[in-house]
Amino acid sequence: MKSELLISVVIMLFSIAPAEQDKYHRDRQQMVTAQLEARGIKHKPTLNAMRSVERHRLVPKAQVEYAYEDRPLPIGFGQTISQPYMVGYMTEVIRPTAGMKVLEIGTGSGYQAAVLAEIVDEVYTIEIVEELAKTAKSSLEEMGYTNIHLKEGDGYFGWEEHAPYDAIIVTAASAFIPPLLIEQLKEGGKMVIPVGAPFTTQQLMLVEKQKDGKRKTRNLLPVRFVPFTRN
Ligand code: SAH
Repeated sequence: MKSELLISVVIMLFSIAPAEQDKYHRDRQQMVTAQLEARGIKHKPTLNAMRSVERHRLVPKAQVEYAYEDRPLPIGFGQTISQPYMVGYMTEVIRPTAGMKVLEIGTGSGYQAAVLAEIVDEVYTIEIVEELAKTAKSSLEEMGYTNIHLKEGDGYFGWEEHAPYDAIIVTAASAFIPPLLIEQLKEGGKMVIPVGAPFTTQQLMLVEKQKDGKRKTRNLLPVRFVPFTRN
């Protein structure tokens, strides 16, 4: 009897152990199923990355309980963390794979950078608001990411030192495509960027730099992003 009890206690403990997942594990799985898969996001590495990145650790305290909701959230300084679907869509569209080096303009919360870092080898990300850059850097370090390289500054100039990039993701709306970003894109590389006037609807565009250096652009969908600012 006693040993049976012991065995069942041991079994119980083992079955609890895997559930030692964070409090939001289920919300996160549901977010991927209901907000991404149900709307057509199919790219497995993107879905897996978003199943694992703890989005709630990258939002301000007051937003933690809403972290997995189907909307953008304020992160301070007039900026937002994008809606999960938008992050999934933009990640899928550049077709990230292991071995790649990706540049992101507009670190914000650091969430998009973390999703990329789960898939590709190196992520370079630039944030213009000093406080956001600092917060994202310390959160991402605390979460254990060693392949995210964050710099505070104006992403208009890209990050020449580590160019060329396999892909570039711009997460702030620009009136035009910053020319240096195209230059820093590898031949055959993809860039996704919201183009248009601030505070209106912009077009999310996919820019592909072809082997002959020419670029091919395609409008993907109407979006609303915070403005691309300059120092
Ligand atoms: N990718 C972010 C979304 C942040 S919103 C996330 O996952 O949370 C866009 C961010 O772009 C804002 O934080 C804003 O401060 C930043 N930004 C705007 N203009 C910029 C520029 N010229 N260079 C770098 N970052 C810029």
